Amino acid sequence: MEKRHIAILGATGSIGTQTLDVVRQHPDLFEVELLTAGSNAALLVAEAREFNPAAVVICNESRYDEVAEALRDTDVKVFTGTQSMCDLVAAEAVDIVVAAMVGFSGLRPTVAALKAGKAVALANKETLVAAGPIVMDLSRRCHAPILPVDSEHSAIFQCLLAAGSNKVKTLHLTASGGPFRGWPREHIALARKEDALKHPNWSMGAKITIDSATMMNKGFEVIEACRLFDVTPEEVHVVVHPESVIHSMIEFEDGAVLAQLGCPDMRVPIQFALAFPERFPLKGEKLDFARIRRLTFEEPDREKFPCLGLAFEAVRRGGNIPCAMNAANEAAVKAYLEDRIRFYDISEVIAGTMAETPFIGEPSLDDIFATNEAAYAAAEEKIARK
Ligand code: NDP
Ligand code: MG
Repeated sequence: MEKRHIAILGATGSIGTQTLDVVRQHPDLFEVELLTAGSNAALLVAEAREFNPAAVVICNESRYDEVAEALRDTDVKVFTGTQSMCDLVAAEAVDIVVAAMVGFSGLRPTVAALKAGKAVALANKETLVAAGPIVMDLSRRCHAPILPVDSEHSAIFQCLLAAGSNKVKTLHLTASGGPFRGWPREHIALARKEDALKHPNWSMGAKITIDSATMMNKGFEVIEACRLFDVTPEEVHVVVHPESVIHSMIEFEDGAVLAQLGCPDMRVPIQFALAFPERFPLKGEKLDFARIRRLTFEEPDREKFPCLGLAFEAVRRGGNIPCAMNAANEAAVKAYLEDRIRFYDISEVIAGTMAETPFIGEPSLDDIFATNEAAYAAAEEKIARK
């Protein structure tokens, strides 16, 4: 494989740092062109010193001086603000953009990368939830492939490669069930962020960890699957699989099922997206079947985890409703992490916001930005009344 030059948006986060670990293991395959962060100046500087990219962006302007000062003795160019991120992903030298920012903030730079015809290794699922049809259309028109990083979608993508042109009947998305699987509803209702942040199988950023506890993460992934693989929500089935060994499966019309398995390690799907279609060694734990002994499955509990149903409703209604749902979720998860609301307030705020959002059937990108802003504000009003 010819060396690939990569830009990492959200380089200081869980996915960003694991992407750099993949690069660290394969300096002959990958070279870092651009690293971006929100506010974590110290880590961005350390990463820049180790990987020597052409440029870094610290989005929070108040941290710019700190980063610029610390990199003064290097060749690394330092920028600030979202716009510079959008300009720099389009640079000639960049082959692949890893979209690993969290939330709606990832949409604008991802759109910029696609418009510039760059391959996008997509972790930032909120981009596909909020603006899926627009993003997929851009990918097609600009010949800019989107390679899934989310473990379930990487699994389905890998299975589909083996499916050839055969029709697939169902995508089975596996879910760990999160930290509250099996808890009585009364206990979940009182759960604090400290409980929600203890994910059983994956170590991730705070927002996605709360999304996993509410199962909104799985709801987002249903929408992500519909967009990436052009299927209807009826063709996506969620199954709880607490061991997180099977990352997802596809079922054919004759009942045969293909699955992709592995240890829960995000570096595997990250490397697959970066090196596609080739595979290379990767250090880390590997499956030991005799030690695992058994794999278990159950239906998700939709009463205890109403966010999953809300996501199915949002994708069936379509238009700007998934965008409103995402915005309300972002506001509610922030409030929950700040101890301003309780666990089930999250789903109530989202349901209320979705119900009030004026429907736009075929939103433009401007409509998406307007819906995001209005729904976020509407959700915040509801939160303030809790
Ligand atoms: P983290 O919170 O760990 O990292 C988020 C990254 O985005 C950080 O680099 C952060 O910078 C940056 N960032 C946050 N807000 C802004 C902003 N407004 N402007 C610019 N940069 C910003 O998140 P994760 O790595 O866990 O998740 C990233 C995305 O990947 C999410 O969409 C998530 O759903 C998805 N994903 C994550 C998985 C995981 O295992 N973690 C698995 C599958 C999908 P700073 O550090 O400076 O705040
Ligand atoms: Mg996932």
